[in-house]
Amino acid sequence: MFNLISVAGWVCLAGGLIYYFINSSDQSRIQETVLRSQTIIIAGAALVILGYVLGFLGRKVGGTNRCKKCGKKIDKTEMYCFDHRRESIWQAQEKHRLEGSGKFNRNKKSS
Ligand SMILES: [Zn+2]
Repeated sequence: MFNLISVAGWVCLAGGLIYYFINSSDQSRIQETVLRSQTIIIAGAALVILGYVLGFLGRKVGGTNRCKKCGKKIDKTEMYCFDHRRESIWQAQEKHRLEGSGKFNRNKKSS
């Protein structure tokens, strides 16, 4: 959807240039031609930028997120995929356990 805005922007940019080249031969109306093609090109550039910004925000805010470890697509509320979330929780628990139990109990652990 946002990609469409960028495409429309590029079409505007190209259209502005084409408009300029078609009409620039007419020296009597050159100022008007430059002004019009400038307006079209600026509008096109604005659309391209808008399209990219919205696309960027859309990826950031909506829909999907990516796992910080493997880059797999995940739900936007999650930081990791299912496997890596389990792994990170396990690591946090392990770290907490080692820190909490202290150095003396480390040798006593039985599995
Ligand atoms: Zn992952």
